[in-house]
Amino acid sequence: MSTDNVMLNYVNGAWRQSRAAEYLDVVNPATAELMGKVPLSPAAEVNEAAQAAAAAFDSWRRTPATERIQYLFKLKNLLEDNFEELARTITLECGKTIGESRGEMRRAIENVETACGIPMMMQGDFSEDIARGIDELMIRQPVGVAAAICPFNFPGMIVFWFMPYALACGNTYIVKPSEKVPLTMQKIFKLLAEAGFPKGVVNLVNGGKEAVDALLDHPAVRAISFVGSTPVARYIYGRGAANGKRVQAQGGAKNPIVVLPDADMEMTTRITADSAFGCAGQRCLAASVAVTVGEARRTFTEAIAEAAVSRITGYGLDENVQMGALINWQSRDRVAKLIQQGADEGAKVLVDGRSPTIANYENGAFIRPTILQDVNPAGEIARTEIFGPVLSLIHVNTIDEAIAFVNGGQYGNMACLFTGSGAAARKFRYEAQAGNIGINIGVAAPMAFFPFSGWKESFFGALHGQGRHAVEFFTQTKVVVERWPREWSRAF
Ligand code: NAD
Repeated sequence: MSTDNVMLNYVNGAWRQSRAAEYLDVVNPATAELMGKVPLSPAAEVNEAAQAAAAAFDSWRRTPATERIQYLFKLKNLLEDNFEELARTITLECGKTIGESRGEMRRAIENVETACGIPMMMQGDFSEDIARGIDELMIRQPVGVAAAICPFNFPGMIVFWFMPYALACGNTYIVKPSEKVPLTMQKIFKLLAEAGFPKGVVNLVNGGKEAVDALLDHPAVRAISFVGSTPVARYIYGRGAANGKRVQAQGGAKNPIVVLPDADMEMTTRITADSAFGCAGQRCLAASVAVTVGEARRTFTEAIAEAAVSRITGYGLDENVQMGALINWQSRDRVAKLIQQGADEGAKVLVDGRSPTIANYENGAFIRPTILQDVNPAGEIARTEIFGPVLSLIHVNTIDEAIAFVNGGQYGNMACLFTGSGAAARKFRYEAQAGNIGINIGVAAPMAFFPFSGWKESFFGALHGQGRHAVEFFTQTKVVVERWPREWSRAF
């Protein structure tokens, strides 16, 4: 690929070159190779997409759900046929390992499969005789045009937490991918076009802040799904709501895992290392702080340090590599700075992954797994989202202290407990203030048929992505109360 590879928008069933004044480079973060250019599309192009989607809405919503899902069945098959190519593209533009990219696309496809159940999932309710001769029913109708604004860290998956459900429910759609990773969405839209969705039903607009603001302000756009950092999530939620839209905005995270002395240490360290260092720590469900309780401290610390040191870091396309590059060089420098800040706040850099030399990829945006020991629980690093392969270790004496630490944070995306005790597990599940809980699980990612439940500053809104929550988000309820007196009808 080269600079000739300019990302296109897809509007009203046609590929269009943007009229953007500014383009950004798309760069492979492991090799520093320039892979293409992405336009920062102006508001006028969002307007065109919104108009196309609004025009397509009436006919699409009148298409029976059983017919609408035929497009999704086709899409599912096309995603399977192009699975390796999509996974490869994710690794090329995002840096994660090819195995992680395959996992990402599998999760994406599972959402398409789940949305194919829409004829049943969007059924309404009916009560006969709520009063003598009067019936009441509730139907679910699509909201209109919906849009997704996506982050960089899952270029293929995140849009599928929303789009398949929105389309299956009869909405039309606009996708604004992250400007850092636009290549995968170009390929996915080729498949959407091949699946034959009627023109205007699915639209793609590349861009940055201007495109986002245009979506938030456009009166035809009725629903916004956002995934990204907390400050932007808060902004999206506020501006979208002020414009009368329904908004679900998933934000950042700082996920704690708690290790009790009765945990299976071999399994716990293996799983924790995968959670903290998988996707180079750039997962909103990455373990970021490990809180050891009592005697768990010594065994866990030794084992996790060993796991960090031995993790193979390199180019994500090499099958033996266990951890890839960060998204870019700014991110690498930001993470290195935060490691130093942790040390300045009193932590010991037990495993230092800064400034690694990765053979053949000396120009890549790499940081190796890093462990900060005895992190100050009251310091900033214990609470700041690092979004890199850095695990902080904190020690406490009781499970109550550990839960108090978990609940003291601003985020609530995920919290995990490692233990052999059912009673401790139940206490944790009951008391931990996070929307996704793992018990002897390191990445508690909900399946497509469960909501992706962030809490606190990790989520703004009421209904999450995936499953039934998505169906509720992409439909509005209409309640009908009916009376049909016999005397008004012709007798048959
Ligand atoms: P980001 O917030 O920088 O960008 C996300 C999207 O918002 C992009 O499409 C970007 O173009 C747009 N955007 C950025 N700044 C904007 C602004 N000022 N005004 C309007 N739009 C703007 O996030 P990112 O760096 O791409 O992604 C990483 C973040 O996403 C992390 O904080 C991570 O925890 C979070 N994340 C959360 C979840 C979750 O489920 N809660 C999942 C994945 C990622």
